Amino acid sequence: MKAMVLNRPGSPLKWTELPDRQPGDGEVRIKVLACGVCRTDLHVLDGELPDPKSPVIPGHEIVGRIDAIGPGVAGLAMGERVGIPWLGHTCGVCPYCEANRENLCDAPLFTGYTRDGGFATAVIADARFAFPLGETGSDVSLAPLLCAGLIGWRSLKIAGDGKRLGLYGFGAAGHIVAQVAKWQGREVFAFTRPGDTGTQIFARTLGVTWAGGSDEMPPEPLDAAIIYATVGDLVPQALKAVRKGGRVVCAGIHMSDIPSFPYQILWEERQLLSVANLTRQDGIDFLGLVPKIGIVVKTTVYPLEQANKALEDLRAGRFDGAAVLVP
Ligand SMILES: [Zn+2]
Ligand SMILES: [Zn+2]
Repeated sequence: MKAMVLNRPGSPLKWTELPDRQPGDGEVRIKVLACGVCRTDLHVLDGELPDPKSPVIPGHEIVGRIDAIGPGVAGLAMGERVGIPWLGHTCGVCPYCEANRENLCDAPLFTGYTRDGGFATAVIADARFAFPLGETGSDVSLAPLLCAGLIGWRSLKIAGDGKRLGLYGFGAAGHIVAQVAKWQGREVFAFTRPGDTGTQIFARTLGVTWAGGSDEMPPEPLDAAIIYATVGDLVPQALKAVRKGGRVVCAGIHMSDIPSFPYQILWEERQLLSVANLTRQDGIDFLGLVPKIGIVVKTTVYPLEQANKALEDLRAGRFDGAAVLVP
């Protein structure tokens, strides 16, 4: 197999030939067809997340077909198309796993961070964390749903049922969640980097009610806001934009420090929460809805060997929607 390997944080990924691996107990091997690029990959690259596997193959929005099945795997077939998400393994016995909160598992493995991921021609996965994808939809357009879509879905659930929803950061997750929220009958307010009129125009083509800079206030108070951008300064900004009793959800795995802010903007029962990872139930719920919602994922495709370019373009905000690598 071939892979783009991160040998040490801060260095570019390296195109590497590796021996083919056989799946172990409870594992499957997947021939990768497409793998989305997520902001979390940048955090792995930059060494901003603790205790990564090293070297590691990044990538946790994997679409592929099963090409080898290990002992003890039930319910998956050779050639079946599956998706592999960020949550790659849980212990099943810790208090969080037992309480149906496996997203908070005490001994998890994360794809492309603490176990090898999908910036490769093949990947070994825990079979219990492989979602059957069926044959509807292209490999490339499904890939970003495996993290941007799933984490987006979980953050949308945690934001509550409010009608007026603000999205801070309108990239891969934002543009998917905007479509889900609209389908649910909500009004979406899209906040981009100040002056990024291109992304604001893109947001309007998806039917948002309002689009503007993150330094602007929405035309009416929001019921809830979700922050996808990794900028801590957005927290007080979003708190100011939500109504009494409103909720602000931080959906990123990493964020710059949140500046101090006057208590008054949290007062009146506003809530500030974070969302972490996903559960398999989130995956089943969301992927089941995808065909009904008719989500159109905007993608920019790069050959696998150009993963470094895709990552730098993501960092610089050079494309709308999501980047996807194809081997
Ligand atoms: Zn656990
Ligand atoms: Zn991700």
